[in-house]
Amino acid sequence: MRILVTGGLGFIGSAVIRRLITATGHEVLNLDARTYAASPEALEGALHHPRHRLLEADIRDGRAVRDAFGSFRPEAVMHLAAESHVDRSIDGPAEFVSTNVVGTLVMLEAAREHWQSLPAAARDGFRFHHVSTDEVFGALEADDPPFHAGTRYDPRSPYSASKAASDHLVRAWQHTYGLPAFVSNTTNNYGPWQFPEKLIPLVALNALEGRTLPVYGDGSNVRDWLHVDDHAEALVLAIERGRPGETYPIGPRQERSNLAVVRAICAVLDRLRPDPAGPRAERLIRFVADRPGHDFRYAMDPSAAEAALGWRARRDFETGLEETLRWYLGNEAWWRPIRERRYAGQRLGGGDAPASAHAVPARAAPGGTGAAPAMEPAAAAGLAEGHPS
Ligand code: NAD
Repeated sequence: MRILVTGGLGFIGSAVIRRLITATGHEVLNLDARTYAASPEALEGALHHPRHRLLEADIRDGRAVRDAFGSFRPEAVMHLAAESHVDRSIDGPAEFVSTNVVGTLVMLEAAREHWQSLPAAARDGFRFHHVSTDEVFGALEADDPPFHAGTRYDPRSPYSASKAASDHLVRAWQHTYGLPAFVSNTTNNYGPWQFPEKLIPLVALNALEGRTLPVYGDGSNVRDWLHVDDHAEALVLAIERGRPGETYPIGPRQERSNLAVVRAICAVLDRLRPDPAGPRAERLIRFVADRPGHDFRYAMDPSAAEAALGWRARRDFETGLEETLRWYLGNEAWWRPIRERRYAGQRLGGGDAPASAHAVPARAAPGGTGAAPAMEPAAAAGLAEGHPS
């Protein structure tokens, strides 16, 4: 199958393309604008593989997108290109609406024009897969059952609102024009090649350098952590087996609080790369002003997608985390220049409030470290939360 993948230089898109090239015979056109989040190195051997071609283009550029459809003649589209970081969406929402909403509109219109030009048999087989997030469903309380495909939309950040809008557009194009489209909504991802603004790599790299580990609020916010290679496997199965009009809820049933994640990272690093100064969690964790509008908990019930796609996440969180941290330890040549030139770990999306104004003493937090509630200037160099998406 010829598959047009958007955002294939990003964290998840590159994992999808690595899988498409190594585990299937599909041909890939990778359309990506190479924003700050792009990493061609993440494609590894797929970058120069004869079944992969890279096209540097913006999904908002209607002519470039139409040309891509015209020359590549895709049989399927996997649409991942997006602005993806919640904290950045708080600082600059317009770019999120432009890329995630208008960009998706451009993709849908080009796909529709292309699909309508196909012979009947090819029209039936065509698929448009829109990759989305569980954040469109809002926030759960501690005892709520997880989100499922039928949960009512309730997005609450500029990022999740822009993704919700794009999900609605995709369903409208399926319903109104018959475009054979479907949506998957997935929980927080982690794994190799994740840009170090997201929770797990940011905490790991700060911990390795002995920097403070600022945790939003009291660290009790919960996310359901999926390894990116497990996600890529689900997305490839979805493009092969997915049915128009469906929604695929994807997740691993691995809920952890942010504080538990940060402490788990410290514990693994203490074992793999001990610091002579002593265990890291006790020394480095600091509680800082919460993200504005921080959703308390996300979690997905993946049963429907597991049954429909014959998929199940392979890794539990602890296995995937150790694998990921070993990867970061062995790939400093990739992340070091990014930390030095593209993103140095400064706090994003914090609003105007100084971090120390709302600091929560460590000993007051559930499962806290008991450490002194010191706030250092370095704490403002912050913790971007993991996806968040
Ligand atoms: P990412 O930020 O790592 O990568 C995004 C990619 O899209 C980059 O390569 C970037 O260059 C490209 N891009 C951005 N704007 C573009 C534009 N205008 N035109 C063309 N390319 C553009 O994102 P990610 O974490 O890999 O997420 C991929 C998709 O999965 C997104 O749609 C995101 O909403 C969704 N998602 C992510 C997570 C997560 O935890 N990371 C979870 C659920 C869903």
